[in-house]
Amino acid sequence: MASDPQPMKSDRRYQLPPVGGNPSTRREGTTPGSFANKSQIGGPLTFSSPDTPGMPAASDKTAWDFMPADWRRVGEHWAAPEGFVPVTQLEHARLGIVTPQMRRVAEREPHLSPEVVCDEVAAGRMVIPANINHLACGLDAMCIGRASLTKVNANMGASPVSSGTEEEVEKLRWAQRWQADTVMDLSTGGDLDATRRAIIGHSSLPIGTVPIYSMIIGRKIEDLDAAAVLETLDHQARQGVDYFTIHAGVLRAHLPLVRKRAIGIVSRGGSLLAKWMLHHKRENLMYELWDEICAVTRRYDVTFSIGDGLRPGGLADATDAAQLAELQVLGELTERAWANGCQVMVEGPGHVPFDQIEYNMKLQRRLCHGAPFYVLGPLVTDIFPGYDHITSCIGATAAAYHGASMLCYVTPKEHLGLPKRDDVKQGCVAYKIAAHAADVALGIPGARDRDDELTKARAALNWEKHFELSFDPDTARAFHDEDLDVDTDFCAMCGHDWCSVRISKEIVEFVSGKDEAYAWDSAKVSAALTPEQRQILEKRGVLAASEIHKLARKTRSAMKIDAGSKAACHSDASSAPEANLLQIEAMKGDAQPPPA
Ligand code: SF4
Repeated sequence: MASDPQPMKSDRRYQLPPVGGNPSTRREGTTPGSFANKSQIGGPLTFSSPDTPGMPAASDKTAWDFMPADWRRVGEHWAAPEGFVPVTQLEHARLGIVTPQMRRVAEREPHLSPEVVCDEVAAGRMVIPANINHLACGLDAMCIGRASLTKVNANMGASPVSSGTEEEVEKLRWAQRWQADTVMDLSTGGDLDATRRAIIGHSSLPIGTVPIYSMIIGRKIEDLDAAAVLETLDHQARQGVDYFTIHAGVLRAHLPLVRKRAIGIVSRGGSLLAKWMLHHKRENLMYELWDEICAVTRRYDVTFSIGDGLRPGGLADATDAAQLAELQVLGELTERAWANGCQVMVEGPGHVPFDQIEYNMKLQRRLCHGAPFYVLGPLVTDIFPGYDHITSCIGATAAAYHGASMLCYVTPKEHLGLPKRDDVKQGCVAYKIAAHAADVALGIPGARDRDDELTKARAALNWEKHFELSFDPDTARAFHDEDLDVDTDFCAMCGHDWCSVRISKEIVEFVSGKDEAYAWDSAKVSAALTPEQRQILEKRGVLAASEIHKLARKTRSAMKIDAGSKAACHSDASSAPEANLLQIEAMKGDAQPPPA
């Protein structure tokens, strides 16, 4: 910690906070004023925020408390039944076997050793989503858990009214370029099987799906049965899907709790299963089939991402009785999946006012015994459609600080339409900011190193180094060169005489800006902007006006909208089959928007 503040002339001295002291860099102490707890890897707190009064304490149980019935405790260890062959990363970890994937995770996150990764996986606090079939074709193993850096998921997938396999593979490349850690294929239209196969084949990142989407292609949800569920899961697992979202926690008893909600059930999987339960007057078949489902996922080591079918769809519904009732069931399903040898993470909300985020994170930590929490956003306000990558990344930063292990990005198109390639970039960048900000605040060793390097380059007014260390060097350079394409010791924001960084550098008493490693010899004229950098300057927005108008005109004519009337595909005007036909017609006339 930094030394005490200097005495002031008045008597207003403030003490540094009593907590903190966690290493934000590999070299030495933390930022003065850090409030994060000291790291406790190996226990339930790992990297954590101090609890605000009233927060649920961490669970004192782990996956070790939910072992398969036929395993026996032998002294300090557990023994599997004779002839048992471990398949999942969890089963290997329980037997103390450090897998190549655990070694790879430690290589990628040097603050972890392979043995620590093994221990965290065994405790259920970390997952390595790595389907054995995807490992065989190019998956680069990564981990999700509180002992590791916060991860970001990018959603993609064709819908019945937009996109196709090639465009989705292009979005996958874009997500990889912008450093998403996992990708979910949420396709509900086009050739789902081909799109999934193409995405898995092209991805070194783990791929997640929501298999119920495929289960209802060509059948009504009411016709879904156990055979179709298990067959679809087995098919996708064989294809190499690394994690499945399954909404098994929505129960019949929860449905009355939804009646007074402002916006009902916003999860596609949750709403479909609610309809199935009401039609059949039966319990959620995913819940009833849970042990059979576990047998399928164990066979290929598909990690569960247990879905939150009752997540709130607006601030008005956050932390309500329905959401919390489902969360308790998610805890029960976690325990049962662990007892079946499966890796588990749990999904969370959604739309949550900022002040309720810590409670939501810590309640999940309690009820699900530290299983990694994978949250969507959450959005902290509902009135900024078009900017929900921002409203949600504010919530995501708080969620990651207080307990989430992976953040599902939200793009500017959220609630409005299917993300295009540039929306994928905007979502990834917003969420890399959220995840990194939380990692720095939590004091994960090394997390702040690059910030410190960039600060030194900025202090030295070394623009080349400044761009090189930026997350998005093209945008940084384009913005700089737009006004002043000369590498000199100030920029166009303040100009030479007012540049405080330049003035600080000249002050002999300061060390600021004088690190020899960052010194540069003389000002240079910038190389011409690349075409990509020029495009960044030309766009200065998510879509060009011409693209927006083209898309709007296309839909208006396809859906035969007269001024003041509802579109032909609106449920008031057409039956479901008619709406589907209109979608198909619209697809035919759908000249794909020009590449971003
Ligand atoms: S001119 Fe202003 S914005 Fe630019 S480097 Fe100097 S202080 Fe920073």
